[in-house]
Amino acid sequence: MLRALFIALSESRSLRNIAERSRIGQRTSSRFVAGTQVADAVRTAAAVNQFGAGVSIDNLGENVTNAEEAQASAQLYHHLLDEIAARKLNANISLKLTHMGLDVDESLAHELVRGLVAQATSMAPKNFVRVDMEGSAYTQLTLDFVHELHRVPGNAGCVGAVIQSYMHRAEADIERLLADGIRIRLCKGAYKEPPEIAFQKKSEVDGNYVKLMKILMKSGIYHGLATHDEAIIREAKAFAIRENIPRNTFEFQMLHGIRRDLQQGLVRDGWGMRVYIPFGTEWYPYLMRRLAERPANVLFIARNLLRA
Ligand SMILES: Cc1cc2nc3c(=O)[nH]c(=O)nc-3n(C[C@H](O)[C@H](O)[C@H](O)COP(=O)(O)OP(=O)(O)OC[C@H]3O[C@@H](n4cnc5c(N)ncnc54)[C@H](O)[C@@H]3O)c2cc1C
Repeated sequence: MLRALFIALSESRSLRNIAERSRIGQRTSSRFVAGTQVADAVRTAAAVNQFGAGVSIDNLGENVTNAEEAQASAQLYHHLLDEIAARKLNANISLKLTHMGLDVDESLAHELVRGLVAQATSMAPKNFVRVDMEGSAYTQLTLDFVHELHRVPGNAGCVGAVIQSYMHRAEADIERLLADGIRIRLCKGAYKEPPEIAFQKKSEVDGNYVKLMKILMKSGIYHGLATHDEAIIREAKAFAIRENIPRNTFEFQMLHGIRRDLQQGLVRDGWGMRVYIPFGTEWYPYLMRRLAERPANVLFIARNLLRA
């Protein structure tokens, strides 16, 4: 019920415009967002690297409505890759195709992402671009594009996809991605999808996650297991030990601001760990999805605001 409310709020353009401009909104978002500038993201990335985890940096934004905004988003990512190289950060980038203009002009979005992957592959060592997965209206377009991009000579291993375990199609999509040797981030899924195409019960989403996670871990390709679910993480670790899967052949991934204790514990125990760091001024839909996942975050944020 609350999940549906926050997901509906995440799609409201007018609330987004008001919230992103307000001071109180900016303070609210700071629980999950590293700041508004590249410098904030870079500082946070360096701190995370310090405790032994890699990062993936997300310049927040989605569903841009004109070509100029899409070009500006891509430009910011180019700047970010320059900073990652200059500061030798253990960092890659995550982006959304609708932030690159997919709703405006598909060929422009493709061209902008191709440019970013070209920069990533020209770095030493080669860097990596993760294409986040959005709502189901974009699933096929996104996967088709990742396959196409991965086939470009020199791009293999430098561009990856995301699979959501709540989608009925997830296993079939994984099979196709693995056939092309594409790196996958497995997550549960953050959008509201109808029962015709997605599992609705948490037990089903979790069960599918575990099933898919095991396929990925045995695939011989380096994947990311994105979850804060302690039971699933325990199961992944036990599976790796039982099957003799080395700890450096996959990584856990978590969001900035969530379960730092768990992130640091995994690093201490020698497991691969990457923290997803979002930054930027367009934080509203991202924050609403985090509230949808755990409505108790509203209380947490309210307490912080009162304290400040
Ligand atoms: C690195 C990363 C990248 C992601 N990329 C995508 C993507 O591209 N597309 C997409 O659809 N989704 C993405 N997600 C979001 C994902 O789909 C889930 O919505 C989110 O991770 C919550 O699911 P969970 O696996 O943590 O399990 P849940 O069952 O939701 O939560 C398990 C436990 O984790 C903790 N927890 C979970 N969420 C929160 C929160 N917001 N605040 C505080 N505690 C929390 C709680 O302790 C909870 O009990 C990503 C998640 C991560 C970690």
